Amino acid sequence: MKQNNYDVVIVGGGISGAALFYELASFSDIKRVALVEKYECIAPLNTCGRSNSQTIHCGDIETNYTFEKAAKVRDVAKMVVNYALKYGYENKFMFAHQKMALGVGDAEVEKITARYEKFRELYPYLELFDKDTLRQIEPKIVEGKDGKDRPENIVAMGVRDGQYTTMDYGAMSDSLVKNAKNIGGDGYDVFLNTRIDEIKKVGDTFYLKAADGQAFSASYVVVDAGAHSLFLAHKMGYGEHLGALPIAGSFYFTKKQLLRGKVYMVQNDKLPFAALHGDPDILADGNTRFGPTALALPKLERYRGLGSCVDFLKSLNFDGKIASILAGLLKDSDIRNYVGRNFVFEIPYINKREFAKDVQKIVPTITAADITYASGFGGVRPQVLNKQTGRLELGEGRIATNDGIAFNMTPSPGATSCFETARIDMVALCEYLGKKFDEDKFKSELA
Ligand SMILES: Cc1cc2nc3c(=O)[nH]c(=O)nc-3n(C[C@H](O)[C@H](O)[C@H](O)COP(=O)(O)OP(=O)(O)OC[C@H]3O[C@@H](n4cnc5c(N)ncnc54)[C@H](O)[C@@H]3O)c2cc1C
Repeated sequence: MKQNNYDVVIVGGGISGAALFYELASFSDIKRVALVEKYECIAPLNTCGRSNSQTIHCGDIETNYTFEKAAKVRDVAKMVVNYALKYGYENKFMFAHQKMALGVGDAEVEKITARYEKFRELYPYLELFDKDTLRQIEPKIVEGKDGKDRPENIVAMGVRDGQYTTMDYGAMSDSLVKNAKNIGGDGYDVFLNTRIDEIKKVGDTFYLKAADGQAFSASYVVVDAGAHSLFLAHKMGYGEHLGALPIAGSFYFTKKQLLRGKVYMVQNDKLPFAALHGDPDILADGNTRFGPTALALPKLERYRGLGSCVDFLKSLNFDGKIASILAGLLKDSDIRNYVGRNFVFEIPYINKREFAKDVQKIVPTITAADITYASGFGGVRPQVLNKQTGRLELGEGRIATNDGIAFNMTPSPGATSCFETARIDMVALCEYLGKKFDEDKFKSELA
């Protein structure tokens, strides 16, 4: 088999790899780049539109973000919107829906109201919706079981229109690859059905071996393999202080359109995931989808084969330190209850009844008969456990070796932040290879 020689090889064709492929073609002078994906298409796993919540997380209704984090996330989220607008993808795979964070009961109402007062400085378009307004714009969240209004005090902060909220990140990844190939021309190659099993560095060159015998060489490698990034890092001896805990997320569908837009609940600050929410699914005729759940699963890939169970054991990197991080998490009663309830949401027969109880906080009239488990939907968030800090990391993780290879772990909201993750790699690799990054062009097109 012939050796494929590149300046940069990107391992993994989800949105992180696709965004880097696009950025290198658009904003660098690097001529030979390979994007290598182990399955038959781009974005087969977590990036696929059926796997995630399709939300552009810009920080306005994510109640677990601090003011400082929201300011950063807002700027990062703008990039995916600017990209889609540049190519005219609005209403093709990027949509503007109504969206809100809903507070239920006096304590949450107070929290949302205070948050609104502070955060409208960052997001001037935000509105505070009282019960009367909510009855008009999102009636199902106000309707009580007896046909009257629900009894609790409620309020929401959000926006009715004019903001892009929803993205099919799978379709966006396809577009990134197509546009990168058009811009980069010959030398920007995509290899599907090509699983990288081994990466070795000899001198200044990386040698990558695929399962089908294909071989690649590169001066720089970025591993954007999602839940498998840490698995590949460990194989090379990097990131030994980290372990990956895969947290699966499932969804439930209603048979009809109950909600007009995205309705998020108030987030528990201790949890690294977006709160349970309901919204119209852009890939299921706008029917309402509720979720995601959060269940620790001994697999790196949700619906593909059992091989990823073995890979999970290696990535977890289990030892006394990991055991103590997990035990520490479970000591917290909020986390314990959350873990227990999410386990119940996966048990056939009782799952629908129990899940419906949680969803009633958003739509009080919903019953188990109204929902079905969304088979084949959902994915895995590779949460990172850090043995040095003794903590579960919130947000993305990166292993920057400063030795010509980097690894990205990308739990939620990794799809929204794909261009920023890619920018960090592009800056590092251009510096390492002595290549140019056209920052002005990057800023004028994406930032
Ligand atoms: C339930 C759920 C809800 C979410 N909701 C949102 C949301 O609303 N908004 C948001 O921004 N984010 C959300 N996320 C997170 C988001 O989906 C991910 O952060 C993002 O898709 C990660 O993209 P990625 O390219 O890094 O990884 P992935 O999409 O997992 O792609 C990694 C790719 O690498 C390939 N690969 C792995 N190993 C190899 C190998 N050895 N050789 C070659 N290829 C390999 C895989 O096949 C895969 O295609 C959600 C995630 C989940 C699970």
